[in-house]
Amino acid sequence: MLEDIAPHRLDIGYGPKRKPAPDSLVLAARGNFILCALEGGAVRLPRLDELDSAQQRQEFWHLLNLDDTGIFMPQGTLTARAPYSWQPHQVLRGGNPQELCFAAYTARQLSLWYQDHRFCGRCAHELERSSQERALECPKCGAVVYPKICPAVIAAVTDGERIVVTRYHDRPYRGLALIAGFCEIGESPEDTVRREVMEEVGLKVRDIRYVGSQPWGADSDLLLGFVCTLDGSDRIVRQEDELSEALWAQRSELPDGSGLSLTRTMIGLFKAGKLVPGALARA
Ligand SMILES: [Zn+2]
Repeated sequence: MLEDIAPHRLDIGYGPKRKPAPDSLVLAARGNFILCALEGGAVRLPRLDELDSAQQRQEFWHLLNLDDTGIFMPQGTLTARAPYSWQPHQVLRGGNPQELCFAAYTARQLSLWYQDHRFCGRCAHELERSSQERALECPKCGAVVYPKICPAVIAAVTDGERIVVTRYHDRPYRGLALIAGFCEIGESPEDTVRREVMEEVGLKVRDIRYVGSQPWGADSDLLLGFVCTLDGSDRIVRQEDELSEALWAQRSELPDGSGLSLTRTMIGLFKAGKLVPGALARA
């Protein structure tokens, strides 16, 4: 999956005092776009020493490290200069090298969180970075704001040789999907599985078991994969505003292999007869 980058290592250790080195990488994010160079399928982020001197002098905040290389966000604006240009962040999905793409995905998530939390939601004073932990603090009222992570479930509903597959109604991703949805306040992930399966396809399920997880930085999600078994009628009642398709697929009809996403990997595991509790757990 996207985050499986061994032997490379993403180090998310918090370093508010770290300063960029000439070979540090710069992650400039603006809405759905990031500043990068594309060479074939290869993605490159600008190094600090590739920026002009005025841009190098601005303040940079440390986001994370990929192996020994720091990735920093600029506090001002960056001008695109060849070979770098503003590209939709989706170029990171499936781009090379995978470790850089995953690091940039995660760095972008952090950068957007910083950009979206400049002021205190309680008293509107400007927030400051904590000196202790990955958080923003309000010097006026003491409020502490942590990075946003949204837990969501991916549910594989199975019945012997069959599994429920779906396609989304109005999202760019057109491939096969499983039942998916965000955890609501007060819900356990298993509760979310039961509720989402009922809402999206009108089925009851039992034996809800954890398969594995995936951090999905594009939307600040933490995906939690579950497998469960049909309990009762197999008649699908599709939620029409959410899904364009929802049906029982036979194991033999599914694509082989895994992929960058948890969904695709779970479908591949079911095809191979290996979608069992804990199959993707990282011991
Ligand atoms: Zn405040």
